[in-house]
Amino acid sequence: MSWRTIQRKNFTRVQELCDFLELDDVARAKVLKTPRFPLNLPFRLAAKMGKNNLNDPLFRQFVPIKDELAVSSGFLLDPVKDASVRKERKLLHKYPGRALLLATGACAMNCRFCFRQNFEYETEQKSFENELRLIADDPSLKEIILSGGDALSLSNAVLQELTQGLSAIPHLSLLRFHTRFPLGIPERLDEDFIELLATCRLQIWFVIHCNHPLELDADVAAALRKIQKLGIPVLNQFVLLKGVNDTFPILKELHERLIECGIIPYYMHQLDRVQGAAHFEVDREEGLALIQQLRASLPGYAVPRFAVEIPGEISKTIIA
Ligand code: SF4
Repeated sequence: MSWRTIQRKNFTRVQELCDFLELDDVARAKVLKTPRFPLNLPFRLAAKMGKNNLNDPLFRQFVPIKDELAVSSGFLLDPVKDASVRKERKLLHKYPGRALLLATGACAMNCRFCFRQNFEYETEQKSFENELRLIADDPSLKEIILSGGDALSLSNAVLQELTQGLSAIPHLSLLRFHTRFPLGIPERLDEDFIELLATCRLQIWFVIHCNHPLELDADVAAALRKIQKLGIPVLNQFVLLKGVNDTFPILKELHERLIECGIIPYYMHQLDRVQGAAHFEVDREEGLALIQQLRASLPGYAVPRFAVEIPGEISKTIIA
């Protein structure tokens, strides 16, 4: 079955998902029926959730609940100030030497804590002409990051055109994918996509976003293995989320699983304070203590850097 066919089976109707998860009346009353940031959930992730369990770590990440309506001080529509670094409709230039291309607004799944959930993506103009011109005009850029929305939502044909356009810019040497797609629809890493990666002139880095060990099952690991076999490094970054992964046993299991799969732990992010996500926030001190526990029990290469994004800084700020 093609990944597009699988994607069409995503849950997008809250009622239908509540039925599938066999939520009782008490649980249903806590679910947000008409969320502003729509429900979008691959079937395979829904199938991993426990029935009638609001505390399931996958349920918390993907199912809209009424806590999202809380207005919390310091939680903003654009917490990382993307709007201030927007150079073109699809191009953000935040840090020296690298720029972010928001190739699409679509993702395999909509994560309730996403800091870009209010971003006004360009949806009319399909071409990347203006963005490619700006990149070509700036020789200080060495790397382009394809980031969320998820570039793997695009067809292989569109991605091929884009990567060829980037490869033709002589001063670029690196291309980074930031993606959560393989965790929801591992079939997306199909033969044509692997071929596209294999033939790209640029050195590729592939960064997944896996928050919980349940997300990294055997099918996902096998799909990522195809990329690793090309010699492309696969890294993981995740967000520290209350009720999802804010305990030592879960983080230990996640990082053991990552290194067993040959995936390099990269960042543990402090939550970006986006409006509606306050119920996910974990205190920084708790995050620090978790990192220390990981350091005391795992090899050094298995421990991610704990980082926070402070708008206006020239890189992520490393906490530990
Ligand atoms: S996959 Fe990434 S960009 Fe898309 S909704 Fe989730 S966190 Fe946001």
